Amino acid sequence: MTATAPVEAAPPAEAHAANEPLGLGLYVHVPFCDAICTYCNFTRGLFDATLVRRYVEAVIAEIAAAPTARAADTIYFGGGTPSVLEPEDVKRILDACRSSREVGADAEITMEANPESATAARLDGYRAAGVTRLSLGVQSFRDAELALLGRLHTSRGARDAIDRARHAGFDDLSLDLMMWLPGQTVDAWLESVDALIALAPDHVSLYLLEVYPNAPLRDEMVRTASTQAPDDVAAEMYLAALGRLDEAGFRQYEISNVARPGHRSRHNLKHWADGSWVGFGPGAHSTLGADRWSNIPDAEAYVARLEAGEDPTQARQRRSAADQASEALFMGLRLADGVDLAAVEKRHAIDVRARYGEALRPFVDGGQLVDEGDRLRLTREGMLLANEVMAVFV
Ligand code: SF4
Repeated sequence: MTATAPVEAAPPAEAHAANEPLGLGLYVHVPFCDAICTYCNFTRGLFDATLVRRYVEAVIAEIAAAPTARAADTIYFGGGTPSVLEPEDVKRILDACRSSREVGADAEITMEANPESATAARLDGYRAAGVTRLSLGVQSFRDAELALLGRLHTSRGARDAIDRARHAGFDDLSLDLMMWLPGQTVDAWLESVDALIALAPDHVSLYLLEVYPNAPLRDEMVRTASTQAPDDVAAEMYLAALGRLDEAGFRQYEISNVARPGHRSRHNLKHWADGSWVGFGPGAHSTLGADRWSNIPDAEAYVARLEAGEDPTQARQRRSAADQASEALFMGLRLADGVDLAAVEKRHAIDVRARYGEALRPFVDGGQLVDEGDRLRLTREGMLLANEVMAVFV
């Protein structure tokens, strides 16, 4: 194990705006995976035991060097594949978080996991370490689709991991599904949605596959002459899945997220509802009021900087008041409840209707946007055109 020197440079001073609606979130990026999926565009690399040992020391050093008086009420391990970490490493990282700031006794502590690395021993250990919420990357319940995506698990493997998670005591379980896969029909998609509903998760995230220019999946699509369905079919997939989830008792609270009552992701709400979070690890982003910064994405370089006692950040920015207001509006529109205009106006000193009312009018008249009381919100059909509506605020 490599000793890690203290970090000299500290993150920007806390300068969060008054009236911030939510508590502070902490994000820990774990940039290792057991295999690289064919569509992946995240900050990650293949599991390397030596580098993981150095990474754990480095991320603990980074957390220790960023103490704050502000209490955190959520911690989120994202990746990459956080479930490649051993429970004792997760416990040490959580201890570092608790030593550097107050973490509420009822904090939501989420870990993303992949089915194949979520062994019973690890899940029991994460629970014992204080993890309260598990987010499993299932993506599909059809084995051919999982193979196309380069996932290491099968449908059976995903079901077994869900059983293990429940057995370990996770009563806040989220499952991810991915739609609009090459060659996927509406019926094939709904087969996965129905399989997911039958497993009774507490929270569901639905992602639309985006095929990046250099993704190996693109080569495979060329080789097999397969394509993604037209946009109107993707829209049908989205609406049909949400309809089935509605019937099963879930409530949509964000464009891509539904939950049973009491199971919204408190951490991710900070991104959509004008909150603040501090990120640790390679490529992690932070937003604290007007201040925004990110870490260098390369894991080896990140670890080397921390070992040398250097600051791992690469970009710092102080957002203007106008940028903060605009982001609060377009991110808030992702929420099914929409943007609380009174709160945004109070916090960012802006008259939203006076400034944007004319540009928003066509969307209100077209039935994509509802403007009532203090709220501005997208209808479900409007969510299909969310980018066009949000562009008004950019
Ligand atoms: S598990 Fe996630 S982060 Fe890792 S390669 Fe697959 S998509 Fe990328």
